[in-house]
Amino acid sequence: MPHVAVSDKIGDLASRFSGQLLQPLDAGYEEARRVHNGLVDKRPLLIARCRNTADVADAVTFAREHAIEVAVRGGGHNVAGRATIDGGLMIDLSLMKGIHVDPNARTARAQGGATWGEYNRETQVHGLASTGGAVSTTGIAGLTLGGGWGYLLGKHGLAIDNLRSVQLVLADGRIVTASADDSADLFWAVRGGGGNFGIATSLEYNVHPVGPTITGGLVAHPFAKARDTLRFYRDITASAPDEWGSFAGVLHGPDGSKLAAVVPCYCGPLSSGDAAVKQIKTFGPPVLDTVGPMPYTAINQLLDAAFPKGALNYWKSSFLSALSDDVIDTIIACYARVPSPMSGIVVEHWHGAATRVAVGDTAFPHRAVGYNMLLLSEWTNPADTERNIAWTRESYASMQPFIASGRYVNYLDDDEAGDPAAEAYGPNYARLRQLKTKFDPTNFFHRNQNIRPA
Ligand SMILES: Cc1cc2nc3c(=O)[nH]c(=O)nc-3n(C[C@H](O)[C@H](O)[C@H](O)COP(=O)(O)OP(=O)(O)OC[C@H]3O[C@@H](n4cnc5c(N)ncnc54)[C@H](O)[C@@H]3O)c2cc1C
Repeated sequence: MPHVAVSDKIGDLASRFSGQLLQPLDAGYEEARRVHNGLVDKRPLLIARCRNTADVADAVTFAREHAIEVAVRGGGHNVAGRATIDGGLMIDLSLMKGIHVDPNARTARAQGGATWGEYNRETQVHGLASTGGAVSTTGIAGLTLGGGWGYLLGKHGLAIDNLRSVQLVLADGRIVTASADDSADLFWAVRGGGGNFGIATSLEYNVHPVGPTITGGLVAHPFAKARDTLRFYRDITASAPDEWGSFAGVLHGPDGSKLAAVVPCYCGPLSSGDAAVKQIKTFGPPVLDTVGPMPYTAINQLLDAAFPKGALNYWKSSFLSALSDDVIDTIIACYARVPSPMSGIVVEHWHGAATRVAVGDTAFPHRAVGYNMLLLSEWTNPADTERNIAWTRESYASMQPFIASGRYVNYLDDDEAGDPAAEAYGPNYARLRQLKTKFDPTNFFHRNQNIRPA
């Protein structure tokens, strides 16, 4: 039995390891093996719950010496379930949550297992923030290494654009800090290249004055007004200032009714917040309007309840060539048939500072102003799985005439056709493959949207 086999080998690692080593019969294993997406049900041979960089390095060496396949877990949010693995070693950083903010230097360093909720709480104590995800339970590491869309993208760029340095454990066990000045090629690669190049034990960010109170929230209209609402959203985002981060879409209200919603976050001065959201508040009438002053930490928790851990998720996503009338009508037609009241179709607005970075400056290539569409299928009853996956696939097929070539790596699911990494990295893919060959020639880190060595 594999369980016995790994037990034989584990002694030396266990003698040094300061975190927890969990095998299938150990207390805590069942909880530790679970990731956000309940559809992912994998059973690692061993879970190494690391407490520090030395643990991570030892776990990497252990896996390499015993030829055990590895998965790396940060926040565990990846819908494709890349953080875990059947019969391999899950190197789990979720106990590594240290965060240190230097308000004078305007920098923050966080360990690779922190979530955005934890990071925002710590940085906001100083009235500071850097771009992070819109759901507070998402991990900083996976989100950042893949790019990182968030409400502050217009003003402060993507999460990677805030990154100053990353400490990594490489496939050969070396520990390096990559920044613009040191290992600059590796620093380029990890800003978008995901977990392909090493395990990020800590990430150092620039932080900026934000809030602590911003102007934002959710405004919802009846589904019958979805066409007008999404056209209105297209019109207002066309001239959105950098201080705006927003998305819109179709979703369900708490009573199960279908709605069209706009979710803006204005991170400029509070005194200009009312004027910045006036158009949104006067369009309508809405059935729900929560837009107003609120803590920056709160807008980043607004969606948390809609994404409970363990719910079953299946996502499809692509950048749109435009938010045209036909796109809007297709979204509405698809949503009219949605089987689950937890599912939504949203479009994120990409603009501002995030789109003023050259395509080749970081591995992440999607720097055009525009919209990214997400089909977010979520349900709880396993008996509904087939129906929900079928709806997502059919809807994604209906959207094909309108999608641009690029895809955001962090939203890719596990069953993408073609070469998803090539679509995710476009013109930067060839250089990424060369760097993968340099830093991970055996493809030791392959439980990710894999960049194959050249
Ligand atoms: C509810 C929800 C909301 C989301 N909202 C946003 C959003 O607002 N903006 C956005 O851009 N994305 C968003 N995402 C997508 C998110 O960016 C990805 O799911 C991302 O992979 C999550 O990172 P994680 O650390 O939580 O995930 P994990 O599943 O732990 O890891 C994801 C990938 O990153 C690798 N990885 C994780 N930690 C490390 C590390 N320390 N070092 C090296 N590799 C590592 C893993 O091996 C895996 O391949 C959301 C996802 C969900 C489920």
